[in-house]
Amino acid sequence: MSARPIYLDCHATTPVDKRVLEVMIPYFTEHFGNPASVNHLYGWETEAAVKQARQIIADAINATPTEIIFTSGATEANNLAIKGVAEAYFSQGRHLITVATEHHAVLDPYDYLQGLGFDVTLLSVQPDGLIDLTELEEAFRPDTILVSVMAANNEIGVLQPLAKIGKMCRDRHILFHTDAAQALGKIPLDVEEMNIDLMSLTAHKVYGPKGIGCLYVRRRQPRVKIAPQIHGGGQERGIRSGTLYTPQIVGFGAAVKLALSEMAREAQRLTKLRDRLWNQLSTLDDIRLNGHPTQRLPGNLNVSIAGVDGQALLLALQPTMAVSSGSACTSTRIEPSHVLKALGVPENLAYASLRFGLSRFNTEAEIDQVAQEAIATIKVLRRVQYTR
Ligand SMILES: *Cc1c(COP(=O)(O)O)cnc(C)c1O
Repeated sequence: MSARPIYLDCHATTPVDKRVLEVMIPYFTEHFGNPASVNHLYGWETEAAVKQARQIIADAINATPTEIIFTSGATEANNLAIKGVAEAYFSQGRHLITVATEHHAVLDPYDYLQGLGFDVTLLSVQPDGLIDLTELEEAFRPDTILVSVMAANNEIGVLQPLAKIGKMCRDRHILFHTDAAQALGKIPLDVEEMNIDLMSLTAHKVYGPKGIGCLYVRRRQPRVKIAPQIHGGGQERGIRSGTLYTPQIVGFGAAVKLALSEMAREAQRLTKLRDRLWNQLSTLDDIRLNGHPTQRLPGNLNVSIAGVDGQALLLALQPTMAVSSGSACTSTRIEPSHVLKALGVPENLAYASLRFGLSRFNTEAEIDQVAQEAIATIKVLRRVQYTR
């Protein structure tokens, strides 16, 4: 078998850590009970396992266990937060605020609500990807009910100032939701200190399984009302019905516990590796870093390369490394990333962008190999381009 490309696409997903998988396996076969079954051991033991995972996840963000609502992932959590709040609070106001660089799992529910008659303000970002707090200040209206700003961007890794935003919203009795899918286990998160009312999380970006995530919904004062978006058996305090997916929940808990115990050390290691990659790539002419140089996820590097065709570059790199472009491909055409566009990256450069997402399993040797291969490929492509 030929060597597989080096995986550097951790903003898309991460492998399940073998230590996490080990904890999950008994819950598929031996401990398969429905945690809602109250009359026998099978139910009790899975209920206990879910309880334990819920506690780990709550502790990770300084929430309480009853504030954690399990969902299928961050997409569902974002939909529940945004539509659930809009539905519960529309009599108090119809104005919603978010940011141009959000994930589509936030932008699209906002679009949907706009179609239903809500007013949406889309904040711009500065060239470094950070929002301008003065612009937020000016966007507030007496009828604003919700602000949604992501913790860490999935393309450029930029970390928004959650605590400052949270304080501004709390002072005005406006709810603050954050999509923290990329941030969990990578940077410290504290819903109390940061005045966060709703937070979306997912397991598969932090070496846990796909198909499981949660929404933190504030129950302590000031308590948040939320309208369920899935109705049925009344699980998760009636907010999200459906049989709990025990193996995935157990895996989510194990992944979070592991990530937190290694967070400080891992952040240091990844920052060093990421800087090592950038130090090598930046020896090229006409290459630029997208997003704030330091206020970003440890494992994120996003660059634009002048003088090459983006598709040709990805195609040439694909045998050696699994990276992604800054572009989001639809089935019919390739569009430049809405995030890079919001930063003001010119369209031709946005097409020729690479997003590196470094993982727990990447080594220094891999990073050097990736840097050398990328540099050589870019030089060849530029020569071809110039002679054409
Ligand atoms: C991955 C991701 C999502 C979607 O999460 P799923 O669990 O795959 O639904 C949402 N927001 C951000 C910022 C992400 O990175």
